[in-house]
Order: sequence, then structure tokens, then C-alpha cells
Amino acid sequence: MLVKAVVEILVVHEARAVDCRQVAGVEVVRESLAEVLRDAGHTVTTAADGTTALAALEQQDFAIVVTDLRMPGADGLVILRRVRELVAKKVEEKREAKQVGSSLAAELDVHAGGRTFAALARLGDDLRFVLIASRATVHRTEDAEVAVLVTPSAHPKCERCWHYRADVGADAAHPALCARCVSNLYGDGEIRRHA
Ligand SMILES: [Zn+2]
Repeated sequence: MLVKAVVEILVVHEARAVDCRQVAGVEVVRESLAEVLRDAGHTVTTAADGTTALAALEQQDFAIVVTDLRMPGADGLVILRRVRELVAKKVEEKREAKQVGSSLAAELDVHAGGRTFAALARLGDDLRFVLIASRATVHRTEDAEVAVLVTPSAHPKCERCWHYRADVGADAAHPALCARCVSNLYGDGEIRRHA
């Protein structure tokens, strides 16, 4: 008798789009992939964004993670959770002081050394999606302490992804969109280095 091993799989596919058709499209991709894997006898958990994915990973071990995000390894996740907590605290301080409106209206400069720097730097541009900010830049420091600087973004807001980006309107044909959204909607799509 053939005994099939049940594999715990986490499927992460972000619904970043505000456009209904886009959200529906992303959901179809995620849910149909999950269905195929479930039909094959696997236990599947789905996540629509990096935050949900991290929460799922903190609760459970998955044998396989299928993702359109660049997620770090297990120790990287512990580091990332710590940095996220610190970022949330710093953003909240700025919100209370009425210096930033929302997390996405903020830009982050994270100063970190050693493994923390490596774990954050590895995420590249996806770091801003995981930390829920319009920009997240990691600076290498010799200091053991992680420091987070929160500043309000001076850029316009992209009406599709809600990130505040310098390149909103860079394409005259799409004055309300950032370059990444224009590329995702009308171009070849973003370049994925790890997925
Ligand atoms: Zn955008």
C-alpha cells in the first residue's frame, strides 16, 4: 500500500493591488495553487501578505514555503520579528506625536550590525513590504544595538499600492502610479531575484 506523506506547505502570495481585478487575480493564483496542493494530500496554509506569513511561520513549522516574497530563513525570522516590533513602537511614537500619518506614510532607516544587518539586507526592496513602510533602508553599523529612524515621506502616494514613492507619476501616462505599479500593470512586471 502506498502511503503518501502529508507535507505542511505555506503559500504566500501578496495582494498588494487596490484594483479589484488585480486583487481577484492574485487571490485566484494563491487559492488555486493551494487547492492543487490540497488535492495532492498536503496540508496548506495561505497568507496574503508578509505580516500574515510571518505570523503563520511563528506558530508552525512548514516543510515548504511557496512565496512571491523574499522570506529569510528561520533565524532571520526571529531577527525580523524583533525589528518589526521595534519599528512598530517607533512608528507609534511618531503617530502619537502627529509626525507621521500611517505606517505606510513613513520612511525607515534601520541601523544594524552583524546578523541583523545581513537578515534585513537580504530582503532587498521587499523589506519595505515586510516592515510596512514606503521605504526601508538598512545601514550597517558596528553598534550591537538596532536603531530605527522614522521620517515622514515627502513623496506622493501611489493610488494603487499606497506607498509614498519618488517615482509616482514618473510615467506621464500614469500620473497617480509608482513605477513599480506601472511595471506590474503594463510592463514586464517586477524583476524577482529570489522567486
Ligand atoms: Zn504603486
